[in-house]
Amino acid sequence: MKNKIFRFSILLVLGVFFLTGLNFSAQKGKLLNYDVLIKNARVFDGSLKPAFKADVAVKDGMIVKVGKSIKGSAAKVINGKGLYVTPGFIDLHTHVDGGMYFAENRACLNYLTQGVTTVIVGQCGSSAWPIFEKAEDLMKVWSGEGIGPNAALLVGHGTVRQIVMGMEEREPTAEELEKMKALVKEAMEQGAYGLSTGLIYQPGSFGKTNEVIELVKVIAPYGGIYHSHIRNESDKLLEAVKEAIEISDRSGAPVHISHFKVMEKKNWGLVKDACAIIEEARAKGIKVTADQYPYQFSSGYPYMSLIPRTAWLGIEETETEGTRVDTERLTSEDAEAIFNHLRDSQLIELYKKVTPYYPVSERHLQFLNEIPRNRLVRLVSRSLISPGNFRGPGNTKERSMFLERMANPEEAQKIREQIRANIDDVTGPENFIVGICVEKNLEGKSLKQVAAMKGKSVEDTAIELELMGARCIPLRMGEEDIEYIMKKDYVGTGSDGTAPPYGIGLTHIRSYSTFLHKIKKYALKRKSVSVSHVIRSQTSLPAKIMNWDDRGWIKNGYKADIVVLDLNNIKTKTSISNPHAYSEGVRYLLVNGEVVLDRGKWTGKLPGKVIKLKK
Ligand SMILES: [Zn+2]
Repeated sequence: MKNKIFRFSILLVLGVFFLTGLNFSAQKGKLLNYDVLIKNARVFDGSLKPAFKADVAVKDGMIVKVGKSIKGSAAKVINGKGLYVTPGFIDLHTHVDGGMYFAENRACLNYLTQGVTTVIVGQCGSSAWPIFEKAEDLMKVWSGEGIGPNAALLVGHGTVRQIVMGMEEREPTAEELEKMKALVKEAMEQGAYGLSTGLIYQPGSFGKTNEVIELVKVIAPYGGIYHSHIRNESDKLLEAVKEAIEISDRSGAPVHISHFKVMEKKNWGLVKDACAIIEEARAKGIKVTADQYPYQFSSGYPYMSLIPRTAWLGIEETETEGTRVDTERLTSEDAEAIFNHLRDSQLIELYKKVTPYYPVSERHLQFLNEIPRNRLVRLVSRSLISPGNFRGPGNTKERSMFLERMANPEEAQKIREQIRANIDDVTGPENFIVGICVEKNLEGKSLKQVAAMKGKSVEDTAIELELMGARCIPLRMGEEDIEYIMKKDYVGTGSDGTAPPYGIGLTHIRSYSTFLHKIKKYALKRKSVSVSHVIRSQTSLPAKIMNWDDRGWIKNGYKADIVVLDLNNIKTKTSISNPHAYSEGVRYLLVNGEVVLDRGKWTGKLPGKVIKLKK
């Protein structure tokens, strides 16, 4: 027995020695020609060409050879038979920076599993800095501790404006404008790729065209790009597109329109005119591009009440959100009153526990210490209590008030009319989809279908669903519009997604499935565009938009960001009612030459780099 153990130990020692030796030679690269060799795959190289048969060799983070039957040894050989090689996907528009503050989300597995190897963050006017001490510090943390995909950062107009002017709805003074310009310049010096705006969000919306032009002028000499969530994505889409183009024309920086679309059924079709305006500008030499996510519903939290606030609370239609209405519901003023008796230091302690900007930097702390007390109270109360629009069980007070009004036939009739008008206005009963419901068989059905199943009117079905606590999603974008935009050669892919904690909370499925869904639904199933068109829209086109000449292609001398895709077995497992599910189909994924997905499983590596704009 002892003998056996002894012999086994010898074998073990020899084995370890042998393996270590192998590993050593792999690291030294003395015995091996390549780090990774992908054999016998079909390659979509980033162009519109159909896939061609080739091997791809990777060494020291770079693609070093693409060709037929590459000879030589490699530390890892991937059998690509039946699989497709594409450049790693570049997501032009994400909000993963919020999630990536947390170390456990830094891998961004929801993106790696879609084949995404690079994300562009700091979008829609809100960015990490200058709330962080310095952009450099954030970049250092990410570079030091590692991230899944590569990341390029933008500086947000809204963030900069808030630092300088708070939430003031007015034009900046000359001095304030100079301060904003200085902050944008600082970010560019530290490696930001440009400026983003969120012109529908406060405080970005307070900024007029000229203010944005002045700030975009700062990024232009650096070769920065202006990414814009434009001022309107519904009935005033054309004016908003024109403004974006004007800003580019008068500042000299390229403009990139984020999540290009038009919302609400009555506006469907407007995208054709918007595209005509963009194409006219492009013909004049103005650099205008856009990105798109391939879904009919919008927003990180896409659910919408079927009973409008006015009908639910019995208030006049002229009273808009924000107006104080005496309904005995918890208003934001009530929430603020709860916190108003606390000392500043206590408020800041509470805020630190709930802010996503963790850990709170010194500059952020300084910001908290300097804002007026009423703003601090508001910030804390809104971070802790969000007065929701929930109509389901649990909202006993408002429900009983509503039901009391429904008992009065005249009042009930008025409520039904308000509900119907609201539904028709947004998108019609055929385009409201039940997302989450205790009656599971209703999930995925339209309001119109549910009404038919229940033999009730649309209005009464809406009331029943709401009181049940069901959550419904309006399909605000038309399928025809989505396909029209997708076919344009200047439109790339941008998920607009986040890095949510896996399995927690409601989220938009685009965070998990945008890239593979676009291939599967629009190229393979509907054949609206070719597979190579979709691949180009998420590889070489975004690289060109971002001015990168070392990513986005399967070519010699390019960074080895590589997807090995089982094209015919793509599985996007998300549904509206189950949004947290990793996609399947990416068999292998390389980021900067390192294998991060091996047979679809994460290897634990974080080889993503922060990509800085070179001065
Ligand atoms: Zn946006």
